[in-house]
Amino acid sequence: MIVPSQGPEIVVMKFGGTSVAGPDQIKHAARRIVAAREKGKRVVAVLSARGKTTDELVAQAHEISDRPVAREMDMLLSTGERISCALCAMAIHDMGHEAISLTGSQAGIVTDSVHTKARIIDVRADRIRQALDQDRIVLVAGFQGVSTDSRDVTTLGRGGSDTTAVALAAALQAGVCEIYTDVAGVFTADPRLVPEARKLETVSFEEMLEMSASGAGVLQLRSVEYARNHGVQIHCRSSIEDGPGTLVISEEETMEQPFVTAVTHSNAEARVTLRGVRDEPGVAGRIFTALAGANVNVDVIIQNEPVGDDQLADLSFTVDRADLATARDVIEGLDGVSLEMRTDEAIGKVSIVGAGMRSHPGVAAKVFEVLGEERINIEMISTSPIKISCVIAADRVPDAVKSLHRAFELGPDAVRPEDPTGAEHRPTVAG
Ligand code: ADP
Ligand code: ASP
Ligand code: MG
Repeated sequence: MIVPSQGPEIVVMKFGGTSVAGPDQIKHAARRIVAAREKGKRVVAVLSARGKTTDELVAQAHEISDRPVAREMDMLLSTGERISCALCAMAIHDMGHEAISLTGSQAGIVTDSVHTKARIIDVRADRIRQALDQDRIVLVAGFQGVSTDSRDVTTLGRGGSDTTAVALAAALQAGVCEIYTDVAGVFTADPRLVPEARKLETVSFEEMLEMSASGAGVLQLRSVEYARNHGVQIHCRSSIEDGPGTLVISEEETMEQPFVTAVTHSNAEARVTLRGVRDEPGVAGRIFTALAGANVNVDVIIQNEPVGDDQLADLSFTVDRADLATARDVIEGLDGVSLEMRTDEAIGKVSIVGAGMRSHPGVAAKVFEVLGEERINIEMISTSPIKISCVIAADRVPDAVKSLHRAFELGPDAVRPEDPTGAEHRPTVAG
């Protein structure tokens, strides 16, 4: 049977760091890849760096320099996934199949030139198609690409191999993009923190976007965005066990709309507080334009009503901790926007996400009540129609996640959909 090198007969299988950590795991991944090939699929596998390799490479860079040059950081970090691919190709050869490993650049992953958080702007997959036509299994180094502007190697931000996989699935019109990881799918909370968390059979793109954005690192945010924009089917599943994982699907396809789908958390942010900001039009625009210009993502923002005659306000916002030094430089470079800058790295964030929240009042009140009962102080709040986030002390994050998960009855005994706020059930549409 001739299987085309584009279309539903192609499967993209992505294996994360723990799934290729040691020689046994690499051989296990190779067996899964070969099994898919032997079932008649054409396989493109995307691999991450082994185990903690990327963390170790980052640490090595910081042993040399306080502010490693971003271009060289990418040269360094991109090596991790190349090692995994070459080793896995060797394992596949030993199993009697032809395999070829490719760097991101060789695989045609074209990005912009924002080092350490580049965006994919094009996928030129001819070389992959050619290899598939030659009946080879193709292994692609995740998390990296090449900028056509600078011709430099780029990386796609932490967790970026997920996005490599989704982008390849889109370009090859693959039937499915399988994300193999160390958990059985997407859960109602991080199962490392909440052992009774429940695996979701499906999750909508909208919810998954909010979950990824608020710290559920199981799928990189950009991979979910890319999949939604290009109609890619993501199946997030275990690399160890067989059996179905979680499908990310459109909201119209979801059967149930619980009030709250999941509790997420993040310990990766830091807060910047600017004291004495002039309360006049244009100031916030200057601050946040400058931050955006330096590719610093800002998350929760609050500004206090100015008190006193001098019309000075306080402005706080959170950024990725990895961007804190850049954010500080940017603000210091802005003349006279504030009297004082303070930073706090001991913050954490807990969020609840659920599409059903849109039409049910009382969810925010319940979140605040639960955190209050746990004596957890809420320092900042931000909401979207389907998410409520609270910035709290970093060391209270585990308690917050567990108590919210319990209070919203997200565990295995969950009877859903039922209104856990106790509020009267209101119809979504009038009438
Ligand atoms: P990989 O190396 O396979 O890419 P990651 O560490 O990036 O794996 O993502 C998997 C991890 O995501 C899990 O081990 C789990 O601790 C964490 N995680 C956080 N939130 C969730 C969630 N809601 N569901 C599943 N896993 C989650
Ligand atoms: N190895 C990279 C990281 O640890 C990319 C990935 O695993 O997706 O972030
Ligand atoms: Mg990951």
